[in-house]
Amino acid sequence: MQALKGTHDILPEEVYKWDYMEGVIRDVCARYGYKEIRTPIIEATELFQRGIGDTTDVVTKEMYTFTDRGNRSVTLRPENTASAVRAYLEHKMYGDQQVHKMFYIGSMFRYDRPQAGRYREFHQFGLEVLGASSPLADAEVIAMACEIFHKLGLKDLDLHLNSIGDKNCRPAYRKKLIEFFEGKKDQLCDDCRERLYKNPLRILDCKEEGCRRASVGAPEITDYLCDECHRKFEAVKHYLDSLGISYTVDPRLVRGLDYYTNTAFEIQYPPLGAQSAVCGGGRYDGLVEEIGGPSTPGIGFAIGLERLLLALEMQNLIPAPKAQKRVYIAALGEDAVAEGFKIQEELRGLGIVTDMDLQGRSLKGQMKQAGKLASQFTVIIGSNELEKGAAAVKNMDTGTQQDIPFADIAGYIAKEEHNS
Ligand code: AMP
Repeated sequence: MQALKGTHDILPEEVYKWDYMEGVIRDVCARYGYKEIRTPIIEATELFQRGIGDTTDVVTKEMYTFTDRGNRSVTLRPENTASAVRAYLEHKMYGDQQVHKMFYIGSMFRYDRPQAGRYREFHQFGLEVLGASSPLADAEVIAMACEIFHKLGLKDLDLHLNSIGDKNCRPAYRKKLIEFFEGKKDQLCDDCRERLYKNPLRILDCKEEGCRRASVGAPEITDYLCDECHRKFEAVKHYLDSLGISYTVDPRLVRGLDYYTNTAFEIQYPPLGAQSAVCGGGRYDGLVEEIGGPSTPGIGFAIGLERLLLALEMQNLIPAPKAQKRVYIAALGEDAVAEGFKIQEELRGLGIVTDMDLQGRSLKGQMKQAGKLASQFTVIIGSNELEKGAAAVKNMDTGTQQDIPFADIAGYIAKEEHNS
């Protein structure tokens, strides 16, 4: 049996890398005042149809949707924003009139063609700010993404920034875009021909060569922003400038759906090639209403953790795990093993990493094992030691050995460890 295509194991030897990334992320979240939310991995399909939009690739082609035994259509979450907003509404978090800042870390599922940096089960860290309409929130969110990359030491990232307007100014732009592409319909891929009237902005970020050529010279949203959206965009840029965060305004960076408003951004690490986006986000002032709640502004982003890990590995930025100080108990004979087993629990109780043989190895084999595990102390209990009521405790670093009564071993090692 093998893991399903597009899914992968994170083996015990690799988990430290994930712990490291998540540790840095959690630390930054705490400093920016974000609290973790954990939502179910499975939700009603309708939530994603409404929350992501039923003209998007994710919803039309990529969802793991099935009928459960109660005949309900359910879906493995392809992203976490819709679920976070559902939780926000279900638990009436809006009732306190406060800004809610939440983050999540977890598995997402999309049935896409797997390739380097693209998986069917992947992990995202993301955050959502609900209840804040100020451009300061947009800038804070972007600054926070940058701070995470900065803390991890990652260099050579490109921040792309755009404003996609709002329901006042976008319709006119949409119309212009449709007019522009209507004359070039035959150059568009099948998907984009479909999108032309439903979701024309998405044609701008289609990766097909024909669509890319067709969109050269297309009208740019930044020329159509209303005063209000223009002012907000300028404010976001101003705040980013004030922090020295550099960005490229990219009018092709779009999100096609009506509930997305104003800020859209993406952070890329170009050496990752075709899947270079490590972070994507933006403002979604219409989403909460779309899911059935009161009008509530929102903004968020998600970082793909597999891609982040690839980037960190390319720049050699993951510190080696700290070597743990260990004790190995080598015991031979039933009674000696029973004595060692008790001492092992005492040591573990004092917070000292302790192991003993579980495979019936000879005493020599056990000593070898102690060396392999890079133990700092080995406690040796054979028939002689049982008779004396004291074990030979060997300091593996210095090679010195001392007899210590069984009852004192845990205390002795704890003290030695403390002093070393
Ligand atoms: P999105 O939710 O599509 O805005 O994606 C946000 C981030 O998640 C992207 O910038 C990627 O880093 C990551 N991501 C999205 N889809 C995948 C995937 N299929 N495999 C790995 N990472 C992904």
